Amino acid sequence: MSTTPAPFTADDYRARMARAAEAAADAGLAGLLIAPGPDLVHLTGYRPTAVTERLTVLVLAAGRDPVLVVPALEAADAEHAVGAPALTLRDWTDAKDPYAATAPLLDAGGRFGVSDNTWALHLLGLQQALPGTSYVALTEALPMLRAVKDAHELERLAAAGAAADATYEEILKVRFSGRRESDVAADLAALLRQFGHSQVDFTVVGSGPNGANPHHEAGERTIEQGDMVVLDFGGLKDGYGSDTSRTVHVGDPTPAEQHIHEVVREAQQAGVDAVKPGAACQEVDRAAREIIEEAGYGDLFIHRTGHGIGVTTHEPPYMIEGEELEMVPGMCFSVEPGIYLPGRFGVRIEDIVTVTEDGGKRLNNTAREMAIVE
Ligand code: ZN
Ligand code: ZN
Ligand code: ZN
Repeated sequence: MSTTPAPFTADDYRARMARAAEAAADAGLAGLLIAPGPDLVHLTGYRPTAVTERLTVLVLAAGRDPVLVVPALEAADAEHAVGAPALTLRDWTDAKDPYAATAPLLDAGGRFGVSDNTWALHLLGLQQALPGTSYVALTEALPMLRAVKDAHELERLAAAGAAADATYEEILKVRFSGRRESDVAADLAALLRQFGHSQVDFTVVGSGPNGANPHHEAGERTIEQGDMVVLDFGGLKDGYGSDTSRTVHVGDPTPAEQHIHEVVREAQQAGVDAVKPGAACQEVDRAAREIIEEAGYGDLFIHRTGHGIGVTTHEPPYMIEGEELEMVPGMCFSVEPGIYLPGRFGVRIEDIVTVTEDGGKRLNNTAREMAIVE
């Protein structure tokens, strides 16, 4: 069922870098400095095998060729990146000061957008080499840079979603009761890989009271008859992320459990229904939260409603009160309201949704009604 999408080409990366340089200029920036991490992968396809104290940085500025500054010993690897033909490689050896080597590529006194995960070591080094130069975090300066996905990216996100859906369908067939959370988590990880994921980022199995802690991953607790179990799993398939949650019940649920699950399901539906081009991201949070507040559980919905997804499983934009960024066709993010009853159980339902001209379209399509497992 899992097919490999056509690989990105040097031209794809050339276009992304040109678009980023233009967006930077439009934002009044002298350029962008991109360290190894998701932004570099997105712009060049280059993912160094290890991120070290040695400086690697992509320098982008409108009207200039992109330059990738790399340690000499990693230059051969960088040359193999798919985007390499679209940029100039400039290597430096350990004997030289990499910041002095990079400084001539930057406008002294300019303001640069810097990828969020750039090491302070490197930023301070550049600042010393070029006093008067200032910096702003990339997601603050250009929050939309990776937020809007093109058709090829959407195809990959949809395929990752389908693989996560297949994982969920299979996990419903395994035994829960009498096994540890960590056993079911291992099943989830194996299934994600079986359905084409190259990387598993998280496999949350929160049974009973553990489900009431949204940050609980999976522990040694033995799952029992009568437990609610929050499942939240995802990772990367062909370089793009999946992230989905369903809450299942071991054996027959009580009416109270059914009710709370139903409130979350309605809230999740309301969040998806609020997805609309031109509307603010916070509207998704408001719509989902309203349902939970009206049901009397507002205090127990203790996190934002969603986050973006792309070459990482968590990234901007965020579906949260105060986020006025407008939804644009091609954006992809989670809609994942939850209710957490301390000491008892939690319920979360999560789908990845993409913005289309007609509203939100889910990339996860398994049933959202509470499934009963053994
Ligand atoms: Zn129960
Ligand atoms: Zn999740
Ligand atoms: Zn999520």
